[in-house]
Amino acid sequence: MRRTKIIATLGPATASPPMLEALMKLGVNIFRFNMSHAPHDWVRKVAKSIREISAKLNHEVALLLDTQGPAIRTGDVPKPFDLQVGDWVSFTVKGQKGTVQITVDVNYPYLVEDIEVGSVVIVDNGLLRMEAIEKRENELVCKVLTPGPMGSRRHINLPGVDVKLPALTEKDYKDIELAFECNMDFIAMSFVRRRADIDLLRGIINERKSELRIVAKIEDQMAVRNLEEIIAACDGLMIARGDLGIEVPYEELPIIQRRAVNLCLAAVKPVIVATHLLESMITNPSPTRAEITDIANAVFEHADAIMLSGETTTGKYPLECVEIMDRIAKRIEQGKTVGSYINPLEPKTAREKINAATVYLANETKAVGICVYSHTGTKARFISGLRPQVAPIYAFTHDAHVARSLSLNFGVKAQVIAQDPDPNVILLKMVENLKRHGYVKSGESLVVVSDLAVGLETLHAIHVHTIH
Ligand code: PEP
Repeated sequence: MRRTKIIATLGPATASPPMLEALMKLGVNIFRFNMSHAPHDWVRKVAKSIREISAKLNHEVALLLDTQGPAIRTGDVPKPFDLQVGDWVSFTVKGQKGTVQITVDVNYPYLVEDIEVGSVVIVDNGLLRMEAIEKRENELVCKVLTPGPMGSRRHINLPGVDVKLPALTEKDYKDIELAFECNMDFIAMSFVRRRADIDLLRGIINERKSELRIVAKIEDQMAVRNLEEIIAACDGLMIARGDLGIEVPYEELPIIQRRAVNLCLAAVKPVIVATHLLESMITNPSPTRAEITDIANAVFEHADAIMLSGETTTGKYPLECVEIMDRIAKRIEQGKTVGSYINPLEPKTAREKINAATVYLANETKAVGICVYSHTGTKARFISGLRPQVAPIYAFTHDAHVARSLSLNFGVKAQVIAQDPDPNVILLKMVENLKRHGYVKSGESLVVVSDLAVGLETLHAIHVHTIH
C-alpha cells in the first residue's frame, strides 16, 4: 500500500463516471473541487457519482471543496487583449474610466494606494508581468514586461502587499453552503493569512454542527509569517505552491515548503504539497526528471499528501499522472528515509502517551500493521502524525465521515464497522475484517489499540496480537 496520499482535482478531463472509477481504482484518496472554476450544479452531480462509485468499489475516498478566497481579479473584457512588450495597460478601480487605450477594471478598491510606482504587477498566475509606471485618479498605469493574451477575470498577485480583502467573500459563503449540502469532508480555505481567518470559518462550521475539516492554504508572505498560528488553528495545511511561488522569491519556495512540512509534522497536522508536481504532463505523456525528483522530495520530506491540479482537470494524461505519482511515492517509501522520522513532540496527555507507545511498540516488534478503533479519528491521526515505520495503520470507526476524513493522513487505511457495546466484539470484528481482506495472515502480528473488557472493567489497551 502507498502511504503518501494522492489528491486529484476534478475537471472536464476527469468528471465522467468511467474516469472517476478509473481514478479510484488507481488509488486516488481525495477528490478536489476547485471553486474558482466549478459551477454548483456540476459539483452536486459529480459528488453524487463519486459517492455511488466509491460505495460500489468499497473504496473510501474523501471530497474536498477548495474556496476561491479573496483573490484580486480583473473584470470582464469583450475579447482578450494581445499584450506586447511596452504596451500601456490601465487598471481602474471604483468605476473609473481609464485614460489609456487598454483599460480593464479590477475588484480591489485599494489597488492604486497599495502599489508603489516601479513595483511589479503579476497577472494570470505569472504569465504576464507589468511594471507600475504611474498613478492617476483611481487608475494604475502599467507597462507590459512580458507579452501574452489577457482575458477576463484574470488573477492579480501583489507580492508583499497585505491585501485588505475580507477572509471570505460572498462567493465563498455560497460555496461553503455547497460543501455542507454535498456532505464534503474537507474545505480548503484559500489565502489564509492569520489564525483569525480560520477561526471565522470554524465558527460557521460549528454553528452548523458540521464535521467539515479545515485545510488552510498558505499562498502569500503574510501566511508564511504567521505559519505557526495557522498550523495550530487548522486541521491540515496545503502548501499552495501555485500562488506561493508568485508571491515569494522563487528561491524561497523550497525553504518555505520544507519549513511548513516540518512544522506540521511537529504539530501532528497533515500537510499537502500542491501544484506543478507533474505540470508538464498536462500536455506530455511522461514527466520531466525535475518533476520526478519534486514528487520524491515531497515524500522524502514526509508530507501526508501530494496534489494534482491542472494535470487532472484539463490535462491530456490524468490517469497516467496518478499512476506515475503512485509509482514514485511507493518507491521512495520503500527507502529507509521514510518511516525514520522521529517527531520532536513530547506527548502530554495520557492518550497521547498511549499513542506514542503504540508507535514505539509497532516499530520494535516488526508488526505488519497497527490496528486502531477510533471514534472520532483523533487516535488514528495522532498515530499517523508520529510516522510509524510500520504500515498501514488500519483505522476502524463507526462513522463514515471519520473514515473518509482519514484519507488525508499518511499511512492510514480506514474502514467503517458497526458499533458494539462490547469492546471485545469490536476487537474480534477488526481482526476478522483484516483476515478476510487478506491484509494479515496467520503467524503475523499486529499492534492493536482498543478498549478491552476485562471482567466488569473496560481497559484502554495496547497489545501485540498474533494472528492464528
Ligand atoms: C495553488 O495556488 O497552488 C493552489 C492550489 O491554489 P488554486 O489552484 O486554488 O489557485
